[in-house]
Amino acid sequence: MSDKVRKLIIAIDGHSSCGKSTVARQIAHELNYIFIDSGAMYRAVALYCLRNQIIVDGIVDLPRLLANLENIKVYFKWNPLTGQNDIWLNEENVAEEIRLLQVSQNVSPIAAVAEVRHLLVSLQHEMGKSKGIVMDGRDIGTVVFPNADLKIFMTADPKVRAQRRYDELVAKGEEVSFEEIMTNIIERDRYDESREVSPLRKAGDAIILDNSLMTREEQLAWIFDKVSDI
Ligand code: C5P
Repeated sequence: MSDKVRKLIIAIDGHSSCGKSTVARQIAHELNYIFIDSGAMYRAVALYCLRNQIIVDGIVDLPRLLANLENIKVYFKWNPLTGQNDIWLNEENVAEEIRLLQVSQNVSPIAAVAEVRHLLVSLQHEMGKSKGIVMDGRDIGTVVFPNADLKIFMTADPKVRAQRRYDELVAKGEEVSFEEIMTNIIERDRYDESREVSPLRKAGDAIILDNSLMTREEQLAWIFDKVSDI
């Protein structure tokens, strides 16, 4: 396969909770590429803001957020126990905590702040410098890597997405209702699609993957088929 020789940039964008990161991680693993979950970076910043009351009831204290930006260090670090890169916030591994529903409910207003995006996109550019990368998010094919070799836009029926996320959180022991997950997914998509800076949208040259009725294996096969066409 040509990708083994020529290192590619693969951008996977799409709606909330349609399994982008899981698929992206597996693709990266198969190709021996770096995998970056850019959503984890926005979630880590949102977690910092929640802890420091920079976001309260969904309202961002912008002056304080900007004053604090230089104190927010977000990076990935290899976890030998799980064999994955975990997201760190300053001196702390926050890979678990960023998945809490409270973080999901507050991340979009933080991700809409231009200065936050600027900071994280520059880190993402740095990570993609040597290519051989699979990155998932909302603006990867449109803004971060507009010249990516393969752009996929993932989506699925909101009910299917909410059910998958609900099952995941309940399995982790979080007490959540299906309705609040469903509301969060719909609101997050709406917020991400309507923000002024780098809104979520399909890049003109992205291929749509609707995985509502697909197994994980079928999705991987579908993507590898596209990779082999490059
Ligand atoms: O991918 P995930 O659902 O973890 O992303 C959490 C949130 O981070 C999204 O709802 C969106 O507001 C923001 N995000 C973004 N741009 C990205 C990745 C995530 O705005 N590239």
